[in-house]
Formats: sequence, structure tokens, C-alpha cells
Amino acid sequence: MEKYRGRFAPSPTGPLHFGSLVAAVGSYLEAKSRGGAWLLRMEDLDTPRAQPGAADAILRTLEACGMAWDGDIVYQSRRSVAYRAALAHLEAQGLVYACGCSRREIADSGLGPDGALIYPGTCRNGLAPGKQARAIRVCVDHERIDFEDLVQGNLNQDLAAEVGDFVLRRADGLYAYQLAVVVDDAEQKITDVVRGADLLDSTPRQIYLQRRLGLPAPRYLHLPAASNRADRRRAPRR
Ligand code: GLU
Repeated sequence: MEKYRGRFAPSPTGPLHFGSLVAAVGSYLEAKSRGGAWLLRMEDLDTPRAQPGAADAILRTLEACGMAWDGDIVYQSRRSVAYRAALAHLEAQGLVYACGCSRREIADSGLGPDGALIYPGTCRNGLAPGKQARAIRVCVDHERIDFEDLVQGNLNQDLAAEVGDFVLRRADGLYAYQLAVVVDDAEQKITDVVRGADLLDSTPRQIYLQRRLGLPAPRYLHLPAASNRADRRRAPRR
């Protein structure tokens, strides 16, 4: 049987908040109860949102809680070569395109399950004259992505209807979370992802990318999201 490899992947946008601590404890206990490894990845890709000192503060909190990680910490800010290669792999399959739309231009689109705008495919067949390339998106189709979550049960999503072609490289040049997480879970040979249910709606996008990139899909377990009044005001993930 393959050896269990779990992970915790905090974003250093501030001190470890309660919701993240739940994900940390949940992923740690799952890994340890299965005699597995528990890896750590610092998701410091979104440099404009990263807070100086937050990554170290998170590590100190984990240590103070007695949660020791296995192996070296992966820092996403050092992994752009791998993300570029994955994007090139998708590009070679004709699956990506440059998008020139601003958020305002698609503001009248419907909202997907995570509250983000469903991209209507405006630039899929080329940029309209005068439009500048901003983000890079991946084409999705109506194939239903089905998966079994170990807590939430069987779930499925029609990406074309519920999300639309989604961003892999943002207008500010940064690689998007959805691409980075898939590349890194594969690189760290993660067999089991345990995280908060706020990421449940992202999972079909990640499974879609795993399939297109020929990467193995880990098992998923989404813990009920812990939140407080301040968390409820947080914006949806893009
Ligand atoms: N970095 C994400 C967060 O802190 C978690 C990503 C993941 O577990 O896939 O919300």
C-alpha cells in the first residue's frame, strides 16, 4: 500500500487564524494516525498579500502546538520554474489563452458556487482588436468532474457551467493558486489533502488540471470550515 503523505499549506497573509489551525490539526492528526508523513508548504505566491514575518510566525505557532513537520518546507515563491513548465505543458495541448478582460468587463456574469464570477469566454477565440493580454486562462468543458470527499461525500461540478475558463496566470504576472497547488501536491507526492471546506469548490478545478497535466489525484477530505465574524467578511478566492 502507498505510504500516506499529507500536508498543510498555509498562506502567510497574517498569523495563523483559527480556521487554518483547524486545517493544520486535522491534516496533522490524519497523517499521524495513519503512520504517514506530514509535509509543509508555504503558499507565499501571492506576494502582494504576504505579510513580512507571517511565514515564520506560522511556523512558530505550529511548533508551539507540538506539530512537527517532515522534510523540507516548500516555498511557492521559489517554484515559478515548475509553474511555468506546467503552463507550457497545457499550452502545448492548445488549452490556454490570453485574456484581456478586466473584472469590471465581466461584472455582469453569473456567480459560481464560491461567489466568484463565471468567466463568459469572451477572449477564448482571440483578443478583440485593441485589447491587451492580461491574464492567462485555461479552457474547460462540460465534462462533469466527480469526486468522493472523505467527509463531504460524493460531489460533482460542471466546470464550464459553474466556473468558466479559469485563470492560471494573473494579470499581475503571478501564477494562480489553482495551478500552483496542483503542481506542488504532485511534487510533494501528496496522497491525501485535508483542508477547510472553503476550498471544496476549488477541488474540481484542481482535478481537471491534474488530468490535463497527467498528474495523480490525491484523496480529498474537507473539514467543516471554522469561521468567526471577521472570516465571514473574507472575499472569495479567485
Ligand atoms: N493556502 C491555502 C489557505 O491558506 C490552502 C490551500 C490548500 O490547502 O490547498 O487557505
